[in-house]
Amino acid sequence: MKAAIVTVGDEILIGQIVDTNSSYIAKSLDKIGIGVHEMLSISDDREHISNTLAALQNRVDVVVITGGLGPTKDDITKKTFCDYFEDELIVDNEVLEHVTQLIEKVLQRPVSQMNKDQALVPSKCTVLFNRVGTAPGMWMEKENTVFISLPGVPYEMKDIMEKEVLLRLISKFKRPYIVHKTLLTYGQGESVVAERIEEWEDNLPEFIRLAYLPSPGRVRLRLTARGIDEDFLKSSINAEIEKLKLLIADIIVGYDEDETIEVVIGRELAKRNNTIAVAESCTGGKIAQLITSIPGSSVYFNGGMVTYATKSKSEVLDVPEDIIKKYSVVSAEVAEAMAQNARKIFKADYAVATTGNAGPAKGDSDAGVGTVFIAIATPKGVSSEEFNFGQPREKVIDRAANKALEKIYQEIVKN
Ligand code: ATP
Repeated sequence: MKAAIVTVGDEILIGQIVDTNSSYIAKSLDKIGIGVHEMLSISDDREHISNTLAALQNRVDVVVITGGLGPTKDDITKKTFCDYFEDELIVDNEVLEHVTQLIEKVLQRPVSQMNKDQALVPSKCTVLFNRVGTAPGMWMEKENTVFISLPGVPYEMKDIMEKEVLLRLISKFKRPYIVHKTLLTYGQGESVVAERIEEWEDNLPEFIRLAYLPSPGRVRLRLTARGIDEDFLKSSINAEIEKLKLLIADIIVGYDEDETIEVVIGRELAKRNNTIAVAESCTGGKIAQLITSIPGSSVYFNGGMVTYATKSKSEVLDVPEDIIKKYSVVSAEVAEAMAQNARKIFKADYAVATTGNAGPAKGDSDAGVGTVFIAIATPKGVSSEEFNFGQPREKVIDRAANKALEKIYQEIVKN
């Protein structure tokens, strides 16, 4: 089974908005065993829309279109959609009642003709009711293809996908089962991980596919099994995960699709009743931001400081000036003093500190651009490591923050 996603709108084509609808729709279709074969973004133009529909007709089983349905769009998409099926627009009374209710009762405005036009749909379409907005979705079939047109507003599109589209697709098409399993690894790049598991990957059964999903400092490995026997798929995928664990146990931090290292750190700290603090320089608060992005982090995150200027490191964080003078502000000694003092100031079990030069120009030290020292203070002492994260600036900051999280994780699980 193949699907295509078409997003309509000039805002996407000029880069004003990012097309998040396609990624949401692709994920939703994937979950029910429908693979997306292509994604297109096209302009709000009659000819462009109808040519696209014609090109996809019979090439894929399902086309999901979003955008261009609202009252502000001259109804180009809806009219073109209707003409493509050689149909005519008629009023859908249920939609009209819903639009009237929404505008008059909820928004307390009189209903305009433009609003009423939202209830016009092609006579042969199945209306996909929009509970959270005015523009309904539409389902039409032509020869071997189902065409689904949805509003562009993301929360409206999501609501209709969940409550109308997926259920209809499930009952219309016989689809394979799809089972996913994810594994989050930390600290080694994609190519290193790939090398370590090369032999295992080469021997994967044909119905199981592996995807590498890398982001700074981490690689998510996603296994996808497709077939007709769900239990067999689950047990096969679990068996492969067990083999993987033997190969890369040292870098695995989680097994959940939505699990991040921040979540795992939070869970491990909370489990041990431990707390953490941060003292950041070149990462500018990024580590604190990542840790506190997890709901409930106040249980284990005591606080942090961004001591960016050299002066602040001594005045606020009590790093002795002679250490800074002797070793330079970007040094293991300063990073370690920052971590130890943050641990004391915030009365935390662990503290992590960064000091470095994110570039592009050299700062208050002779350290090369990309040099970062990361220190960890624990109940047992303090340690630090020097890294070079290269360039550009954003990459240095991202990689330093991720490396700091990795080091925190490693320290916590030791105890
Ligand atoms: P309305 O006219 O009521 O706004 P519509 O169906 O005509 O709805 P569009 O006008 O195309 O939809 O888009 C409405 C808004 O929805 C856009 O301004 C944009 O913020 C968002 N949007 C549209 N398409 C996408 C997309 N592919 N990804 C993310 N956001 C989108």
